[in-house]
Amino acid sequence: MEIDENAEKLKSLHVSSLDEEEDESEAPNDDVEDDVSEDDDDDEEPVPMTLGFAEKPKNQWSLLRQYFPSKAGGIPAWLDPINLPSSKSSVCDFCGVPLQFLLQVYAPLSEKSTFHRALFVFMCPSMTCLLRDQHEQWKRHPETPRRSVKVFRCQLPRVNSFYSREAPAVDGTEKLLTAGALLCNWCGTWKGDKICSSCRRARYCSSEHQTAHWRSSKSSHKVHCRQLEIPGEASESAASNSLWPEYEITNEDEFEFEFDDAEIFNDNGPDNSLISRSRTDKSFEKLQTYFKGHGDTRSWASFQAKVAVAPDQVLRYSRFAQAKPLWPVSSGQPSILDIPKCNYCGATRCFEFQVLPQLLYFFQVKDDGQDSLDWATIVVYTCEDSCGGHLGYKEEFAWVQLASQREHPASHFLK
Ligand SMILES: [Zn+2]
Ligand SMILES: [Zn+2]
Ligand SMILES: [Zn+2]
Ligand SMILES: [Zn+2]
Repeated sequence: MEIDENAEKLKSLHVSSLDEEEDESEAPNDDVEDDVSEDDDDDEEPVPMTLGFAEKPKNQWSLLRQYFPSKAGGIPAWLDPINLPSSKSSVCDFCGVPLQFLLQVYAPLSEKSTFHRALFVFMCPSMTCLLRDQHEQWKRHPETPRRSVKVFRCQLPRVNSFYSREAPAVDGTEKLLTAGALLCNWCGTWKGDKICSSCRRARYCSSEHQTAHWRSSKSSHKVHCRQLEIPGEASESAASNSLWPEYEITNEDEFEFEFDDAEIFNDNGPDNSLISRSRTDKSFEKLQTYFKGHGDTRSWASFQAKVAVAPDQVLRYSRFAQAKPLWPVSSGQPSILDIPKCNYCGATRCFEFQVLPQLLYFFQVKDDGQDSLDWATIVVYTCEDSCGGHLGYKEEFAWVQLASQREHPASHFLK
């Protein structure tokens, strides 16, 4: 990234925020239903983007559902705590195992019905399933879509039966108006509809999780089943030790970083882009090395230039109509036709946010064989109208881009 180009971007950012309508008409490619994604990164108008960062929460209560958190790992803070996704939506369509909670983004909109609004991403931790998911993803309009990555949207009006109509108390004392559904004692994620036949107390979402809890070496239910008190089995906690580590997702405007970045480049020159900020870590250098070695330099170069201003970002969010995902690699990008329309109202689905591979680093996903999880980016597309209705959670669409069909980049930068 050159200094001049950076200044240019800042300038056009001001223009686009003042005069969006005109900008839209100046971008002739936007309305064309193009079958092939064009790599037009260089002529793109910058669109305000919010960056998400994974941070250990200062207070554990800030991740509770009554505080409407954005979070990654651990268990979801269900917005509607009762009408959770049903059993079929909650499992991997390939291996049948319950999906694992990846992250959630609290993203309210201005409509009355979207006063509270959150998006939840789940995925099967098996790379084998994700590779099968890739195959299904490319099938346009399959009769019964099969996925190992699922996104749910939940929204509530300001006046609802779960939360106070006023903003939550900032000291952690906010109480829940209603208890949520009883959850699985193992994953703490899905409804615990199955009850242990011996103690009639422990609850599970699936027989897989009942078995896992029974066999667990740390907190085996086999040991606790016959005791009067069952430790750590209150609702909204999980006995599983395979959940991803929990983080709060904090956010900052990308614009702020780009402004800083221009100054950094003035001092140090553009060459050390990815390692110029204090937040950086050796893993990001390894990530850089990996992409450099993969001959996909064109897409990687623009990806790198863009994330360099804040290399530890794990999420990029924008609901501006012109917002586009940042693709780390040039292969494996969808065209407009690959993004299905809303299953519920038929409206177009638009880009809303993307998850970056940096999250794998925070999740400490290790390269321990063929099945270790990896992606280049997960892009979430949601109903343009954020349509309402009776369902507690509506399924949206995720597009997963892998860094390589054969190799996993995590194995290169997470050692
Ligand atoms: Zn699976
Ligand atoms: Zn479970
Ligand atoms: Zn039991
Ligand atoms: Zn819709």
